[in-house]
Amino acid sequence: MTIDAHTEVRLPDPSAVFGHLTSHIAQHGIDLEHVADNHVRFHHEGCTLDIRQNLESLTVSIAAPSSNMLFFLKEAVAMHVVEVDPIAGEALRWSGIGEATAQPLNFRPLALINRTQPCANMVRLTLSGDDVVRLAQDGLHVKLMIPMDRTRDPAWPTVGANGVTRWPDGPDRLHVRYFTIRALRPELHEVDIDVVQHAGGMISDWASKATKGDRIGVMGPGGGAIPVQRDGLLFAGDETALPAIARILEGLGADAQGNVVVAWPGGANVSDYLPPSPLKVTTLPRDSFRAGIADVVRKMGAEATVRYGWFGGEHDNAQALRQIFKQEFRLGKGEQLSVAYWRDGVRGDATGAGD
Ligand SMILES: Cc1cc2nc3c(=O)[nH]c(=O)nc-3n(C[C@H](O)[C@H](O)[C@H](O)COP(=O)(O)OP(=O)(O)OC[C@H]3O[C@@H](n4cnc5c(N)ncnc54)[C@H](O)[C@@H]3O)c2cc1C
Repeated sequence: MTIDAHTEVRLPDPSAVFGHLTSHIAQHGIDLEHVADNHVRFHHEGCTLDIRQNLESLTVSIAAPSSNMLFFLKEAVAMHVVEVDPIAGEALRWSGIGEATAQPLNFRPLALINRTQPCANMVRLTLSGDDVVRLAQDGLHVKLMIPMDRTRDPAWPTVGANGVTRWPDGPDRLHVRYFTIRALRPELHEVDIDVVQHAGGMISDWASKATKGDRIGVMGPGGGAIPVQRDGLLFAGDETALPAIARILEGLGADAQGNVVVAWPGGANVSDYLPPSPLKVTTLPRDSFRAGIADVVRKMGAEATVRYGWFGGEHDNAQALRQIFKQEFRLGKGEQLSVAYWRDGVRGDATGAGD
């Protein structure tokens, strides 16, 4: 079943917004169907977006398989209209099915109920709240958020009438970062998130000091998928990617083949952290991972054909691995993914606004 939403935005220059939206979609590597000169459509992950440029307006129709995805696409469209024409973007209104909510549909405040240590240098937060079952669909990653000023009660994001998330500003500003849902127990209303301990990190600090009942905002999920390939797999990542690699291994099943190479901080066995899997797991000490991972991956590629390459970790490593996957292993679209999970010396805001 799909749910849908529609909008018609009156614009002095509909072609500017039409061009902005279509070039943005193309940048994401999504194939556009050109229905007519003034009319495009695309299908992606079960969603359909239909955009038509009229004489004095733009009409957009969205069909999506879940409320979460519908919310995300409505917001994306409205944000792009705001970028080109802020007045028209603010005036945009949606009709159709889709829950109109005061807070973003994919947002929920959760409370800390337990903290454990699955391995050295990592804290496992067990969080609890209503409706965590929604975190089971649409991706592996969430945004975690806490007030920048930890002495203040949190003010959470709201949704404007045009569907765009309004982030608290001024003294209520939030610190927002991406994390991975390590485990979900909807029947118990519980979620586990593993947070790497590192100097100067606000969420890292919250994770080690928060007390039971303290609240943290969770938005998502989105992003992260299990590859379709089942042989010649190569997953590499530092500690921040351990939760994602664990989730992917859980999703791959018993017939998958290939290698996993991770930074392992010790304090437990990697086989206790990662789920049982037919892939061969190699660990590198966390202190030598960043300097050594590119050569280890090259060597693995020389020993056996890599058909799918995946990396999550520090920005410079991610860039190097992307080059290796594309240029040395000749992997194309859908056969490799290399993502910067953090950047040395840079605070990586996940609201898009920067902090
Ligand atoms: C899709 C995705 C999924 C992620 N999943 C996880 C996850 O499950 N668990 C997890 O721990 N992280 C995960 N990360 C990485 C996490 O978002 C960053 O490490 C984030 O910066 C941590 O936020 P913070 O508030 O603790 O530190 P920030 O305030 O963002 O950073 C402060 C300083 O610490 C540095 N820093 C940030 N991360 C590290 C690190 N790991 N080691 C050393 N220095 C660092 C920054 O360069 C900056 O100088 C993920 C990132 C992405 C994009």
